[in-house]
Amino acid sequence: MPGFEIFGEEERKQVADVLETGVLFRYGFDAKRNGHFKALEFEKKLAQITGSAYSHLCSSGTAALSTALSACGIGAGDEVIVPPFTFVATFEAVLHAGAVPVFGDIDETLCLDPDQLEKVITPRTKAVIPVHMCGAMARIDEIKSVCDQKGLILLEDACQSLGASYKGKAIGRFGLAGCFSFDAVKTVTCGEGGGIITDSKEVYEKADQFSDHGHDHLGGPDRGADDHPIIGANYRISELNAAVGLAQLNKLDKILEIQRKNKYAIKNAMADIFDVSFRYIPDAKGDSATFLSFFLPTEERTRHVAKTMAQNGAGPIYWYDNNWHYYRKWHHLKQMKGSAKLAAELVDNLPDYKNMAMETSDAIMKRTISMQIMLSWTPEDIENRIQAILKSFR
Ligand SMILES: *Cc1c(COP(=O)(O)O)cnc(C)c1O
Repeated sequence: MPGFEIFGEEERKQVADVLETGVLFRYGFDAKRNGHFKALEFEKKLAQITGSAYSHLCSSGTAALSTALSACGIGAGDEVIVPPFTFVATFEAVLHAGAVPVFGDIDETLCLDPDQLEKVITPRTKAVIPVHMCGAMARIDEIKSVCDQKGLILLEDACQSLGASYKGKAIGRFGLAGCFSFDAVKTVTCGEGGGIITDSKEVYEKADQFSDHGHDHLGGPDRGADDHPIIGANYRISELNAAVGLAQLNKLDKILEIQRKNKYAIKNAMADIFDVSFRYIPDAKGDSATFLSFFLPTEERTRHVAKTMAQNGAGPIYWYDNNWHYYRKWHHLKQMKGSAKLAAELVDNLPDYKNMAMETSDAIMKRTISMQIMLSWTPEDIENRIQAILKSFR
């Protein structure tokens, strides 16, 4: 899964280009930069890969989410529907925008369930953020049609799913904007970085401005001559980070090919295990294949298999107990700890996170095990892993 597994000459060359000029800033310094615009090049490539009209690179996936929320006009008191299985960044970005995360249940895609959105939509709902978890997609066309019917903004958290697609269209392109992460453990890494894609010129321009203190980037070589049409922040990427990412992005096809090959070798070897069923993936061809996830019939059986797999070195992930990815252990959210509390106290529609019950999601997560698919596995590693997995079910 992580792009860092395949660092090579290409990354070193890209970084050396930047160090030779000494220009680490993505804007300006045209005379000194020897023609190197790494962030800009990355953006062009990301737009081309995803087929989106615009793309903007910023300092992290979290920054991309915050920037996209602002660019889409989502803010104080707006309710935003998010899933309880994600990374904490999704609800953090919503809270830091002054908006209110409202949790909707997931289905066997391990992503937001379009059939259960209606239950949590209120007159205050402004947006829906499905999170395409573990490299594969939500039932995104159905989620989109609910959003269209209800007049809600669709914003995709595709941080974990670069390279995934649904019926030939890149994940991240179904809503008003989509966000990716290029942090140190993602499919393509900048070290730290994040990207936004959109087909809306207005959203793109606002994102570009927001992530750089509101600069309109129209003042020419003198940044001081730029105007500031909106209040922004500094979520800029550095050229060094963008350079690493650019080399990585050029390897995406290769990465996807290896992931898919490794994943299906393992999945096929598990086909005959009688009580295993696999995660529902709406378009299996579009799976970026960073993880293999499956279900067992009961919590007890799942815990037992996860334990045996761990003992056998098969690297299971039991998300239901995970501190970072499932709402059950989000004590900081439940107690509203930190400065987000200040904004949250000002709204009168904050859900009771402490007593939130997500029974449908719990029932699914209790029976779910995932395995990360690595790029660096040799055929022997894969064979050993298959043996370790099969042994865990005996
Ligand atoms: C990684 C991730 C993010 C945040 O990305 P960072 O680049 O680490 O800030 C957001 N959402 C999901 C689902 C993620 O996995």
